[in-house]
Amino acid sequence: MTSSWKVADVVAVHEETSNARTLRLRVPKLMGHLPGQHVDVRLTAPDGYQAVRSYSVASALPSDELEITVEELPDGEVSPYLVHGVSVGDQLEVRGPVGGWFVWHADDASPTQLIAGGSGVVPLMSMIRAHAVSASVAPFRLLYSVRNPDGVFYRGELASLAMPGGATPLEITYVYTRAVPDGWPTPPGRLDADLLARSVLPAAENPAFFICGATGFVETVSDWLVQAGHDPDRIKTERYGGIGGAS
Ligand SMILES: Cc1cc2nc3c(=O)[nH]c(=O)nc-3n(C[C@H](O)[C@H](O)[C@H](O)COP(=O)(O)OP(=O)(O)OC[C@H]3O[C@@H](n4cnc5c(N)ncnc54)[C@H](O)[C@@H]3O)c2cc1C
Repeated sequence: MTSSWKVADVVAVHEETSNARTLRLRVPKLMGHLPGQHVDVRLTAPDGYQAVRSYSVASALPSDELEITVEELPDGEVSPYLVHGVSVGDQLEVRGPVGGWFVWHADDASPTQLIAGGSGVVPLMSMIRAHAVSASVAPFRLLYSVRNPDGVFYRGELASLAMPGGATPLEITYVYTRAVPDGWPTPPGRLDADLLARSVLPAAENPAFFICGATGFVETVSDWLVQAGHDPDRIKTERYGGIGGAS
């Protein structure tokens, strides 16, 4: 972890969905990061006004580059600029990577349950990518709550990593809260305690949990897991802010 601000170059941009974009940043002397960590991004207006926001690292690149994926909050101060205003060749101030708690270590062979609400999938994607790169044998399961199929981040890559017989064990369960894909067996609906209990790794396997999303989602899901008999000491959470519930 480092606390000094560095000037990062935007070296690539990629539209993830209609309102989210992945930015690849080259950060001097970054020397990698741990899956689950985030960086702080600082913007400075011409009049000197500054705004700082945190963004999880999405990539698992052992280099001086990292990727963040930003979802636009329409009334937000920073995210609309990062999603629509930044181009390749621009520079951003970055601090980090930050965080040592919400981190997956590649030598941890525990069964691992990842639970994402919306853009909370970003740090979990870093863990999934690191899991694949390290050829980890830890069983990985992702429960991804998202509004509709077009809102899924990393859709193609997730599908390919979760192919049966793939190099590393990954299962994915999608919960669509507002619209489902054609032919989906159930109507859209919010995650609830029953669906959660049916979808996650069983308590008997003592899985490690990583939950990320809006604050309300994370707190609700954590409570349900504890009520279902999961060990609170195995549950790690990252709260993005906002008040969103379990959707
Ligand atoms: C550790 C950490 C990692 C994060 N990683 C990511 C990431 O990978 N990708 C990403 O898109 N965002 C991430 N966030 C959220 C991000 O830091 C900003 O809060 C978000 O981009 C909104 O900033 P803004 O300036 O556009 O909105 P603001 O101007 O700060 O807020 C606008 C309005 O939206 C509300 N709001 C703020 N945050 C949220 C939220 N998360 N959900 C719902 N409403 C909200 C505010 O209460 C306010 O009413 C992360 C947050 C944390 C703490």
